Amino acid sequence: MTLTDADLERYSRQLVLPEWSGAAQARLKSASAVVVGTGALGSPVLTYLAGAGVGRLGVVDDGEVELSNLPRQPLHFTPDVEVNKAVSATSKLQLMNPTIMIETFPARIEEFNAEAILAGADVVVDCSDTFATRYVVNDACCALGTPLVEGGVLGFDGLVMPIKPGESACYRCAFPTEPPEGSVPSCREAGVLGPVAGIVGSMQALEALKLLTGAVEPALDRIVQIDARNLEQTVVKTSRRPDCTACARVPAATQSG
Ligand SMILES: [Zn+2]
Repeated sequence: MTLTDADLERYSRQLVLPEWSGAAQARLKSASAVVVGTGALGSPVLTYLAGAGVGRLGVVDDGEVELSNLPRQPLHFTPDVEVNKAVSATSKLQLMNPTIMIETFPARIEEFNAEAILAGADVVVDCSDTFATRYVVNDACCALGTPLVEGGVLGFDGLVMPIKPGESACYRCAFPTEPPEGSVPSCREAGVLGPVAGIVGSMQALEALKLLTGAVEPALDRIVQIDARNLEQTVVKTSRRPDCTACARVPAATQSG
């Protein structure tokens, strides 16, 4: 897709990067990303993907904006309380970058609708808040052969994992079984601080841009753990499991990106 003069001006600071190029920007313009969840992780992810010029964005969230969301979910404002979060996020993103197309899904991703909502995306970014959704998104992306960026945050701890099904370890390769319900506290129970989610979401957006443009290699086969107490990162190497129920049968040849 060709870049207009307005594109060249809007994206000039990333176009000037030696790692970037007009071709990378044009790939972004013709690319599609779906972001699952518009909360503490989804807000920075969507902001940076819309800002960077991803041509088509899918925004998925079935929840309504709550007063307790506002300290860490900067796409939602006080007058948005009780508005559907996908709708609230879309209105801000469209103002931020009117040149991109946004598709709004006021829905929860579940097994029955996951592949329908995620099909056609060049990358999926999972910013959901439950393990059940995380495994559904991972398995659907593996079935579709769609690159995925997983992320999670709880308290002062975060995790980021970019995935190319058929090529690198998927979330289920790294964590084969879902933790039993109630065994891991939720953000509601354990708490979370806005900037910690901002760090994790920014890293997810970065990895998604790498996967979409090919400008820089994504950190595949790595689980990046962030400890925001001391700003330390631990990179845990991981690899595909030949018996993974999600990705073992995905042929690498189907991969895009
Ligand atoms: Zn796997």
